[in-house]
Amino acid sequence: MTKRLPVRALAAALLVVLLSLPALAQEKLDLQTLDRIRAEGLVNSKITDFLIYLCDIYGPRLPDSPQYVKAGEWVVGKAKEIGLVNAAMEPYGTFGRSWELQKYYAAMLEPQYMPIIGYPEAWTPGTNGVLKGPAILLSVKAIADLDKYKGKLKDAIVLVQGEQDLPISFEPMASRLSEADLEKLELAPEPGARRPGAPPMQDMMARQQLQQAVGKFLKAEGAGVVLEPGRGKDGTVFVGSGGSRMKGADMPVPAIAVATEQYNRIVRILQKDVPVTLEVEVQARFTADDLPGTNVIAELPGTDPKLKSEIVMLGGHFDTWHGGTGATDDGAGCAVAFEAMRILKALGVQPRRTIRMALWDAEEQGFVGSRGYVANHFYDRVKKEKKPEYDRLAAYFNFDNGSGKIRGIYAQSNSAVVPIFEAWLEPVKDLGAATVTLRNTGGTDHLPFDGVGLPGFQFIQDPLEYGTLTHHSTMDVYDHLSRPDLMQAATVMAWFVYNAAMRDQKLPRKFFDPNAPAPTRGRN
Ligand SMILES: [Zn+2]
Repeated sequence: MTKRLPVRALAAALLVVLLSLPALAQEKLDLQTLDRIRAEGLVNSKITDFLIYLCDIYGPRLPDSPQYVKAGEWVVGKAKEIGLVNAAMEPYGTFGRSWELQKYYAAMLEPQYMPIIGYPEAWTPGTNGVLKGPAILLSVKAIADLDKYKGKLKDAIVLVQGEQDLPISFEPMASRLSEADLEKLELAPEPGARRPGAPPMQDMMARQQLQQAVGKFLKAEGAGVVLEPGRGKDGTVFVGSGGSRMKGADMPVPAIAVATEQYNRIVRILQKDVPVTLEVEVQARFTADDLPGTNVIAELPGTDPKLKSEIVMLGGHFDTWHGGTGATDDGAGCAVAFEAMRILKALGVQPRRTIRMALWDAEEQGFVGSRGYVANHFYDRVKKEKKPEYDRLAAYFNFDNGSGKIRGIYAQSNSAVVPIFEAWLEPVKDLGAATVTLRNTGGTDHLPFDGVGLPGFQFIQDPLEYGTLTHHSTMDVYDHLSRPDLMQAATVMAWFVYNAAMRDQKLPRKFFDPNAPAPTRGRN
């Protein structure tokens, strides 16, 4: 049996439906709070103070090294000082061996004196005291070529690679995304397009096999130290790992990445059959064998009785490579996250949801810290098991593409968030942040979230000198940060996090297939 509604009730019901339609499409924005966020972030910024401590005073932060732990403890103290809660270094699982450089010295003594710009590779041991002797250049194109060096490399100073190509570049070192770049980014990529420049898989595997064979041979022959070209130019050295962080892994021969111009000079002298005498000393230590890894966490508690158990997260990675001080990779991301927290706390905003900052460990080793955190708090991929916070995460925002300002955001193939982000960006487009692309981006700590169906995002950032100079190099230092860019980024980050903490609903999620493969690593 149906009951007839009176006409007036019908009309009222219709009006409610009509009125709620635009409200669904439109985000409620608190522009008064945005004005205050802008004033605090752009006029009263404290972001460089944070970075001077993180980079200049505490230095590089190889995962779980003594410097990492001290820097983490400082951030925890600072977080408490500004009134954040639950600040702690939170263990997530086992990291492995931690490593610390204590001394490095190298010079060419003959035919001429030249101090050598270089940097020991992480997770390689120190030399057996000061090594002094002839440089030996190997010529190895295939594994069989190693035979002719048998018995000749005891304590030797060895160069494995030949002269490196170093063409003059006419491209500017620093760049910003142009309007054309951003417009292109808004469009979907060509279907089936391959990334240009990647060498064929077989070549890569053959090269890797040869490298491994050379490493084993040098170790068996008792070579003293290996010098490798540092991949950079203008005296900049790109340096990563030369050994393994894993407990019980074989110890490699000590290895040093050397400035390419100087490496090439030594090679060219040797190729003219003129002897080169080098002197090298490295002191390095493995500080622990099987260390638990920790992420740095702090919160601004939620205030809405119904929503305060829900969480909005923001962060970057706390670990760095060791050649510089980890300023742009990813001290910048840590500073942006911390400054966004400071801005919101300083304004005394009362977020409905809890806002949680996480500065991740061991991103450079494959998102080890963020993957561990996601497994503990949200979703265990191995057991295919949801954790209690899985249904309570509103969003995660990551900043890890250098110190360039925010130009927009990658929606990570989640169409439902596009209009929401567009609405949030509208009142900050004068700051240069206006683009929402549906495209995915990889290589940063949003991936472990994204990989289990959680809304995790990385911003679109201006490149500045990230790809050309600072990323994993000895020039990843404070002076290559852009202060105005970071101030803008912290302001936009605070605004995004605030909106995610205040809106009625959590951010919409995309379809999650628990059987899909785990996300792979990229750069950053
Ligand atoms: Zn990074």
